[in-house]
Amino acid sequence: MNTAEQVQKATKHNFGAGPGILPKEVFEEASQAVLNFNNSGLSILEIGHRTKLFQPVMDEAVALAKELMNLDADHEVLFLQGGASTQFYQVPMNLLDEKAVASFTDTGVWATKAIKEAKLFGGVEVVCSSKESNYTYIPKKFDVNPASVYLHLTSNNTIFGTQWQDFTPFYEKNLPLVADMSSDILSRQMDFNKFDLIYAGAQKNIGAAGVTMVVVNKNILGKVSRKLPTMVDYRNHIENGSMLNTPPVFAVYVCMLTLRWLKSKGGVAAIEKENDRKAQLFYDTLDSFPIFKGTTAKEDRSKMNACFVMEDPALEKEFAAICEQEGMVGVKGHRSVGGFRVSMYNALPYESVVALTDVMRNFAISKG
Ligand SMILES: *Cc1c(COP(=O)(O)O)cnc(C)c1O
Repeated sequence: MNTAEQVQKATKHNFGAGPGILPKEVFEEASQAVLNFNNSGLSILEIGHRTKLFQPVMDEAVALAKELMNLDADHEVLFLQGGASTQFYQVPMNLLDEKAVASFTDTGVWATKAIKEAKLFGGVEVVCSSKESNYTYIPKKFDVNPASVYLHLTSNNTIFGTQWQDFTPFYEKNLPLVADMSSDILSRQMDFNKFDLIYAGAQKNIGAAGVTMVVVNKNILGKVSRKLPTMVDYRNHIENGSMLNTPPVFAVYVCMLTLRWLKSKGGVAAIEKENDRKAQLFYDTLDSFPIFKGTTAKEDRSKMNACFVMEDPALEKEFAAICEQEGMVGVKGHRSVGGFRVSMYNALPYESVVALTDVMRNFAISKG
């Protein structure tokens, strides 16, 4: 890279939905570890996973996750492969017998995929859905069959830009809770112990692609009657400390660095404040200029992924071109919503939101 390119790289603002932005410190440390890991004379990419070099990485990643989420002794932290999409079937295989029923909330594309996979293994009841409005809001009230073996939710809907703000409707049901938290894990305070199984592809908020964090209450395991393949049974992963086979060594390392960074920032409470500040600036700007139109119900707006369109769709191309020119990366909306999507994950600096909202303001005024 020549100097001019370096400077250009430095001025990019990454609003991509995933794999998403990570802290600059993490990029620097991870790149150093590729060359010489902890002064071992070896690259992180060439060390055995069952060595004195790697075991502390896995141990620290698990310990940091437990600490940051304030987990009790029943909750185990796993680092698995296959992405959140593998959890769509691994969860029902472990928890849902063929004759039993699980309940699902349908708040978007990812929830729909989780539902589809669960149906392969047992009974599924969809207890609420906002599909009829193209998932622009979060359903507030729903009833659940009390015989359900678990109740599933997607805490943040990455594609549609909605987020569950209040988990009371779930807590009230007194059922084992399963949550896909891929796109907002560790972005806000919540009582993680109230969930019996949490899964999250790391590449949105806590690390590099290639690893999935799973938090599971071990008491809910071992109750289904089907025979489970070794790699599917969570109990085997717990027993083997996420090293039943070769773990994604580098991806786990990047997760560990990101969790360390989060702790150094003051943990989840501190990052939540920062995320609130970013979301507030973004949405305030969005709402001040009628040229932009948010696509979701205001009370359900996601602080991680904000979706909007232009009042006049003919302007979208021009706005997209200006964003590109100004170094705003990854702002194009998902094809099922159109328009724009701005992801503001933990590592996105406040200054990036300032830069983007400046572009929005200038554009609106120029058209005013
Ligand atoms: C991105 C995403 C997924 C899919 O994750 P993979 O790791 O690519 O399988 C699932 N659920 C949610 C909420 C997501 O944002």
